[in-house]
Amino acid sequence: SAFAEIHLGEGLNQNIRRCKYVKPTPIQRHAIPIAMAGRDLMACAQTGSGKTAAFCFPIICGILRNQLSRGGARLACPTALILSPTRELSCQIHEEAKKFSYKTGLKVVVAYGGAPISQQFRNLERGVDILVATPGRLVDMIERARVSLRMIKYLALDEADRMLDMGFEPQIRKIVEQMDMPPPGARQTMLFSATFPNEIQRLAADFLSNYIFLSV
Ligand code: AMP
Repeated sequence: SAFAEIHLGEGLNQNIRRCKYVKPTPIQRHAIPIAMAGRDLMACAQTGSGKTAAFCFPIICGILRNQLSRGGARLACPTALILSPTRELSCQIHEEAKKFSYKTGLKVVVAYGGAPISQQFRNLERGVDILVATPGRLVDMIERARVSLRMIKYLALDEADRMLDMGFEPQIRKIVEQMDMPPPGARQTMLFSATFPNEIQRLAADFLSNYIFLSV
């Protein structure tokens, strides 16, 4: 099977070819159609499985298809949020997401701790459709009223087990509480984790609705 069969749209398909992805990895083959159908998803996936594309493609495709891009609003008001545990992982996701959204007009911004917040604020001010962030820095930005999560339509939690191991559960809960997209545009949530201990199952029960469980 090929990416073309998933109907991701011509812009995204061109970028997939540019990335030299020929065929979907198992997680991509299963997760992308489920997410494209609008379903919440809890996926068991390891590093190196291609999970970044598995959550980025449906997000990018969904924003473009539903014309949800808001470009440069005065208050940063992203449509999609990707939470990840570390600066390194956030930067990797940011780089990949930028390649996937090349020439689509979508703006991808990254925010992480341990670096000056002022430059990250300036990046946000230029407009943001997809925000990639670590939980602590994002809470900081919310408390300073520089970013609003009110219009988040797509939420992806990457390496959720690692985020909990690092003690980020209170921050994650605070972040999700900020999201109140009015109906009918209910939020779509994708949770990726390498392991599924009780804490992750509780998170899934609290954040996902009527979700599909995937283990590849
Ligand atoms: P990830 O698990 O998302 O960190 O991806 C691991 C690596 O596999 C990254 O370097 C990706 O660019 C690459 N990759 C992801 N999906 C594919 C694919 N369908 N074909 C070829 N390479 C891929």
